[in-house]
Amino acid sequence: MSGWPSRDHTHDPSARSWVESANVAGADFPLQNLPFGVYRRPGAKMRPRVGVAIGDAVLDVVGAAAVVPMPSTEAFEAAAACDAPTLNRLASLGPAHWRALRHALFDLLSAAGRNAEAARAARGRILAPMAEVELLLPLAIGDYTDFYASVHHATNVGSMFRPDQPLLPNYKWVPIGYHGRASSIVVSGAPVRRPAGQVLPDGASAPVVQPTARLDYELELGFVVGPGNALGAAIPIGDAPRHLFGVVLVNDWSARDMQAWEYQPLGPFLAKNFATTISPWVVTTDALAPFRSAPAPRAEGDPAPLPYLLDADDQAHGALAVTLEVSLATAAMRAVGSPPHRLSATRFDRAMYWTPAQLLAHHASGGCNLAPGDLLASGTVSGPEPSERGCLLELTWRGRDPVALAGGEVRRFLADGDEVTITGWAEAEGAVRIGFGTCRGVVQPA
Ligand code: MN
Repeated sequence: MSGWPSRDHTHDPSARSWVESANVAGADFPLQNLPFGVYRRPGAKMRPRVGVAIGDAVLDVVGAAAVVPMPSTEAFEAAAACDAPTLNRLASLGPAHWRALRHALFDLLSAAGRNAEAARAARGRILAPMAEVELLLPLAIGDYTDFYASVHHATNVGSMFRPDQPLLPNYKWVPIGYHGRASSIVVSGAPVRRPAGQVLPDGASAPVVQPTARLDYELELGFVVGPGNALGAAIPIGDAPRHLFGVVLVNDWSARDMQAWEYQPLGPFLAKNFATTISPWVVTTDALAPFRSAPAPRAEGDPAPLPYLLDADDQAHGALAVTLEVSLATAAMRAVGSPPHRLSATRFDRAMYWTPAQLLAHHASGGCNLAPGDLLASGTVSGPEPSERGCLLELTWRGRDPVALAGGEVRRFLADGDEVTITGWAEAEGAVRIGFGTCRGVVQPA
């Protein structure tokens, strides 16, 4: 018995939408995806509301539910929760409501659906071209936690700073994380200002305050909490998936010189709290059902997870077959129309030491109460090969090996005007590929 959603007719690869752009091979938002976001139409008199991405359009969930009757109480209540400027109410309702709404929206948008004709006839009122809407931060994020769950990332970073002991002795026992800052989480496209702060110049005995010279990105996945838990009540790992509403792309911008000076003994602080970018569409755990995969096997001699982190189904299928890619376009590259430079790509399930369910169960294991809309990020997703490293710190090995770009530019760390774009998609045998859209930010001068 697994807490994860199972596959059903909404994952049928032969299903097609009457929204033609959703049927294009390789589209991020086919009928089988149906991710939730929050949008508004600039210039229109409408409050921000919940939408669903379908092809190159956004479906107004509340408007659609007024055209086509919702088939169940759960679907009706879930659609009503979409009359809101955030996804928090929908996230709080739980898996039965999410699934009922998914089934209703699938039927409404399916070319073969019972209500396809009525929905299609109302398309001018309930669909907006995505190019004409503004996508907003989809959640009121009360708390944000960032983990460190890729053993390859932890080993690479550790070996730069502690060559004799890259992985600390706790790593393979406890999912390492820190409490991040929720207030500075922004949606894709928001500018990211280069922070200034204390750094210790090489050879100096006292710090100086200056704009960071080592601005970096971190390629991550973020897990959005659905129903929370009461203070003092842990979440058993077998129940953890029922508390996961969906997944977003995350860029955990980092100032490495500030981080190196401030991080001991309590971990990152100002080096990571100036901005975190997330993608606007929350891909639901329902949509990800076909893409659950086996976690990377633990190395010979590694300890088994402790009982509260051990679940047979999680060990067998608790990871996700999600490919993540990050690319860079400098201001000069964009000015001459050069395509973005792909910096790295990796698979989430190949990179991580801990599964999303383990991260959530660990977080709540001491009684910490999680709440709807909380964000748990994976930590930098770095796979085993050098081409799979998820930040510049690793890719350039602290700046030793600069990245060469088209046009003769090089980068050790990010320069003003640099645009960093993260994309992600899930693929599996017998399933339609689904995408996460993009998570993008341009670095502004200090
Ligand atoms: Mn991070």
